[in-house]
Amino acid sequence: MSNTQKIVGVGLTSLETRQKLVNRLKNKGITNKIVLEMIKNIPRHLFIETALRNRAYDDVSLPIGYSQTISQPYIVGKMTQLIYEKDNMHNVLEIGTGCGYQTAILASIFKNVITIERIKPLYDRANKSLKKMGFKNIKCVFGDGFKGSTKNAPFDAILMTAAPTVIPDELLRQLKPNGRMIMPLNERGKQKLLRIKNTKNGILKKIIDDVLFVPMLKGTKG
Ligand code: SAH
Repeated sequence: MSNTQKIVGVGLTSLETRQKLVNRLKNKGITNKIVLEMIKNIPRHLFIETALRNRAYDDVSLPIGYSQTISQPYIVGKMTQLIYEKDNMHNVLEIGTGCGYQTAILASIFKNVITIERIKPLYDRANKSLKKMGFKNIKCVFGDGFKGSTKNAPFDAILMTAAPTVIPDELLRQLKPNGRMIMPLNERGKQKLLRIKNTKNGILKKIIDDVLFVPMLKGTKG
């Protein structure tokens, strides 16, 4: 198989298959053309282990090992649509790199991405795949996302792909004035997706939807 075929994919990983996924997401309310274009262009199958690749363009979350999952494409589309703000796309912080698929989407719309993962083998694998795909504007960090990245703050935007039980203060502090944060919050066992805005009158919270993410945990592993 040629290199181009490997990246574009054939059969169940082809552009045609991806277009079907894009159509499904459109029907479910993902309307931002740039976001849909990225979902069409980024090869999700390359972030998934070979045995599961035939399901890469189904709208489902899939296991990536270490009890973690790659998010469902609809959720990735929704979060990316919520984080998109035409003129404020300089730097973004992602918490929970996982396999790096959402990271690749962010890197295609933001100038710079910092992404933090607490499980070492997942960090290693994502770091390797993103480099291999040629992304130059992503910095993968192995560490505890609760601490954010003071060195690279403040951020235009923060996206969290694991659910804490309180909104982390340290991350709010790392947002630029008018910055936004998209995150799942677990309140008494129920998770809600929030869009938070750091306004001059304080933090504004908007509840978007019910969601189900893995928990955000303290410290690092492995
Ligand atoms: N966007 C990822 C989602 C992976 S699941 C993908 O689509 O692949 C969420 C990830 O958050 C897991 O890999 C988990 O290890 C990580 N995570 C949980 N708590 C964290 C923390 N405190 N800091 C960094 N990563 C964390």
